[in-house]
Amino acid sequence: MAIHTSILFALLALALGLAQVEEGVAALLWGGHIGNRVLRYLVPLLFLAPVVLGKVVLTFMRSRDLHPEFGVAIYTMAFIIGGAVYVLVMVFHLNRIDMEKQAYMTELGYFKTALDKAAIVAITDVNGKITFANRNFVEISGYSRNELIGQNHRILKSGLHPPEFYRNIWRTIARGNVWHGEICNRAKNGSLYWVATSLVPFMNEEGKPYQYLAIRQDITARKAAEYLLSPQYVRKLEQKNRDLEQFAYVASHDLQEPLRTIQAYSEVLGREYAGKMGDFGEKGLEFLAEAATRMSKLVQGLLDYSRLGRENPKEMVDCNHVISEVLEDLERTIADSGATFSLHPLPVARGNSVELRVLFQNLISNALKFRDPDSPPVIEIDCREEGEDWYFTVTDNGIGIAPEHQERIFVIFQRLHNRQKYAGTGIGLAHCKKIVSMMGGEIGVKSELNQGSTFFFSIPKEPGDVYEQEIELHPADR
Ligand code: ADP
Repeated sequence: MAIHTSILFALLALALGLAQVEEGVAALLWGGHIGNRVLRYLVPLLFLAPVVLGKVVLTFMRSRDLHPEFGVAIYTMAFIIGGAVYVLVMVFHLNRIDMEKQAYMTELGYFKTALDKAAIVAITDVNGKITFANRNFVEISGYSRNELIGQNHRILKSGLHPPEFYRNIWRTIARGNVWHGEICNRAKNGSLYWVATSLVPFMNEEGKPYQYLAIRQDITARKAAEYLLSPQYVRKLEQKNRDLEQFAYVASHDLQEPLRTIQAYSEVLGREYAGKMGDFGEKGLEFLAEAATRMSKLVQGLLDYSRLGRENPKEMVDCNHVISEVLEDLERTIADSGATFSLHPLPVARGNSVELRVLFQNLISNALKFRDPDSPPVIEIDCREEGEDWYFTVTDNGIGIAPEHQERIFVIFQRLHNRQKYAGTGIGLAHCKKIVSMMGGEIGVKSELNQGSTFFFSIPKEPGDVYEQEIELHPADR
């Protein structure tokens, strides 16, 4: 074969080789990595520069008729200096690219860290098989990372959404669109959790998705709050409350009858067999009668409690007047205890007079009852406007309540002392709580043990409510 034919073939083979950009030398030459870039820079230096430089030096020597040794020296010097400059420029250029890349990677690292911290992140392949799960995902799902990787995303299905819901998701992302929505998933322990989800498909060059990135936010708490406010939940709760009250009413009402029988028969027995039963019999009968009376009080309290709010027509109630009446009722106890009152003007507010009276009666009689054994009670009753509410306070200088008991005292039958020390049934504050709740307000206590207590309650102000400045103070207020 002639030399030019061989060169032609060689060039052809080279061209074909270079056209195959995905394999062999061409892949090395056209690749996107730093090594490929270096190769691309070096090819001209290694292959073109010697030929071009050789040709230039030869022409120069011939034209000046110079000695070959001089030519070799020039060639060598030119190659070394030119090569060094070329390599230096190449290094600067590559360093700049590398620095840009590093800055970009650092920035990317920040985004990844932020995303990891702020969201539940998962990557699945095109069939929904999990290939990546971040820590938040592990935590919320309750599965370990090893249990998640390789599993189909279906293991999280809650059963709450119909199949069409999932089909729609797959249709959307398979077409390359991002899907946003709220999904209820099931954790390993069976509990349900809600996530606001964005599913982002990643497409290959052929326009087909090859993986999906799921970014989720835990919205379980928000969903729970929404449910608590939903009309269906409120209806359910109201029905449950009605059922419970009905039950308490019926139970306490029906219990009254056998109790009355016990009380009546213990009385008859006591009368008929007086002096015949011996000490033990008489003491026993006494205990029986006492227990029946106590139980009767409890049952009556329960009955009153369940009745509260059944009929509560609202009217304008002068709270100052209510206080006067309550103090009149408690006159004897007040006098016995030597209590003093500091009464501030209270509003005329819309409410039910009987309920408001029960409320003040309980708070004031407690303030008298739980007094400091060493000093007479000093009780202050006040009210101020706070935003949309009336904010009432009843403050005493009594025995106080330790912080750990301050919530449970509002629960029915909860008492902190035995009957011998302080009489009572543990129903008063439960009544107060129910009354205040029914009026749309809140009740609580601020207290320290042995430091007195301030019971406070709020009720929403209604149009027409006024402050009654002119109050007629009860004689006890001295
Ligand atoms: P009762 O007065 O019949 O015991 P309550 O429901 O009115 O029932 O009160 C529950 C408990 O709260 C009381 O037993 C008492 O321990 C505590 N308590 C209520 N009011 C006061 C108060 N002013 N000072 C200290 N403790 C109180």
